[in-house]
Amino acid sequence: MRWLQRLRTRYLLRHHPIDHTEWDQVLSRGAIFKGLSAVERAHLRELTTLFLYRKTLVGAHDLTVSHQMAVTIAAQACLLVLKLGLRWYDGWSQVIIYPGAFRVAHDRINDVGIISKQARSLSGESWLRGPVILSWDDVAHEIDAGSTGHSVVIHEFAHKLDMRNGRANGMPPLHADMVRSDWTAAFAGAFKHLQQRLAHHHRPAINSYAATDPAEFFAVVSELFFTDPETLMAEYPRVYAQLTQFYQQAPLDRH
Ligand SMILES: [Zn+2]
Repeated sequence: MRWLQRLRTRYLLRHHPIDHTEWDQVLSRGAIFKGLSAVERAHLRELTTLFLYRKTLVGAHDLTVSHQMAVTIAAQACLLVLKLGLRWYDGWSQVIIYPGAFRVAHDRINDVGIISKQARSLSGESWLRGPVILSWDDVAHEIDAGSTGHSVVIHEFAHKLDMRNGRANGMPPLHADMVRSDWTAAFAGAFKHLQQRLAHHHRPAINSYAATDPAEFFAVVSELFFTDPETLMAEYPRVYAQLTQFYQQAPLDRH
């Protein structure tokens, strides 16, 4: 059946690609897309087209998701897997978009096994084998703000990559040519360093939310990698180097 899927993919790309004008508008809106080569832009357009066919993007709370909003989200999601392929997003199908920050109440199990309901306000969330949930307010604000180090889209889709090998633990499946101990040394060292800075009340150069746990650390440094690689390189060059191997991209060369 693979040939059938290949045929279908070719048909979609030829007959239903994202309109060039709309594509150029989305790419020029976000600093995150700056410096991509013509070949990379064309490949990203193909991935984004297929992403929009394979995933359902739905609005919550009466939000109407325009095609341009969908492309803005999908293009950022696809930037993460530009060199990895869409298969990394297999196994789930929905992106739910709220107009703004949304409140969630989750059961949390504490150290002594008591489950409590916790209500929090979020700009994004990523479920294991479930949907990605985003706040459009945050997506729109961040795409216009430029290289700030923040992107809720990159953050939540990085969790999706992390969860490819089970629960989010800060280590996605590494490629065959990567060295597991190099990854662990770079990430564990940086994570510990960040926690120590916070413990000593030093203002960290990166979002302190990264110190919550290794999964959040991976998601936050992925945001930096794509939106503010200079800061990541200055703070944690070994983490930057590992991410260039994992994502097979070097955003620093693009900026
Ligand atoms: Zn997170």
